[in-house]
Amino acid sequence: MIVVMTAGATQDDTQYVVARAQSLGLRTHVSLDNGRTVISLTGGLRGIESDALSGLRGVERVASLRLPYRLTSSEYKSERSIIPFNGLSIGGDEIMVMAGPCSVESQSQLLETAVAVKNAGAKLLRGGAFKPRTSPYSFQGMGEPGLKLLAEAREQTGLLIVTEVMSPEQVPLVCEYADVLQIGTRNMLNYSLLQEVGRVDKPILLKRGMMSTINEFLMSAEYILSHGNNHVMLCERGIRTFETYTRNTLDINAVGALKELTHLPVIVDPSHATGKASLVASASRAAVAAGADGLIIEVHNDPDHAWSDGDQSLNHSEFEALMGQLKAIAVAVGRTI
Ligand code: PEP
Ligand code: MN
Repeated sequence: MIVVMTAGATQDDTQYVVARAQSLGLRTHVSLDNGRTVISLTGGLRGIESDALSGLRGVERVASLRLPYRLTSSEYKSERSIIPFNGLSIGGDEIMVMAGPCSVESQSQLLETAVAVKNAGAKLLRGGAFKPRTSPYSFQGMGEPGLKLLAEAREQTGLLIVTEVMSPEQVPLVCEYADVLQIGTRNMLNYSLLQEVGRVDKPILLKRGMMSTINEFLMSAEYILSHGNNHVMLCERGIRTFETYTRNTLDINAVGALKELTHLPVIVDPSHATGKASLVASASRAAVAAGADGLIIEVHNDPDHAWSDGDQSLNHSEFEALMGQLKAIAVAVGRTI
């Protein structure tokens, strides 16, 4: 349930409503939407709240939310969220491209690719130092030395860093180096990790679980928002279907659906969605045309010898060519890259 205050409501009016709701045993969360104060109520709703609150001074209306997630939903906040960080923002007119290798492998590999993606127009460098691999015998990532290389690449190129955090215990360490924390598809349902990143003041790139519905995805986002961190980007990275030709199936429907249902920026990962370098460009073009606010793309200086996900990684010139195409599509949909 939410209480929407009138445009002229004072802080005292809001405080009074909050105190009254709390005296009814409810938890309150106050935010601003288009200049209006909105109070979200959770806890044991008993059906008497609407009558108890709707007559109070400054209250415009008390409404029930249709959707099970609240802080995430566009019913709660109709204005689109723009996430600012370190001089950049995501969710505005400019489409952000994050690019780089699947895994950090070495200083030269990372730096070469960082320079190439920067020159092609990427604003963030991706690269995993902690890798969730299907096989325990596959390369698991460099760990902290990999994070140090990412920080060095940021220093040399000015690119901001997005990198995965796999467990609640790793959060403080990854926070020391990263600008954006990535939650991978396998961890979308790791509620203790979601709660932990809900308490940090860095933006979160939350990837959709490979077998999760949009509703489950948004409940996971809600975990992060409800623990205090509003800076969440939703990333569609392909879901499992009966199709086996591609690694996953890019749910292009999700782009429009997530933008309709929520106020959060929507990012698309065409690399994991397709699993094939030859299909990354078409999936990226579709994502930008569909309204994505950003892309996260795997790029490697030598894809044939990559330690992970070489099959889906673009080489430097393929990435540069793709960026040229995306700029034209962005203009056609009223955006820039
Ligand atoms: C990644 O981006 O490196 C990754 C492991 O992605 P996902 O969690 O979507 O598989
Ligand atoms: Mn990968």
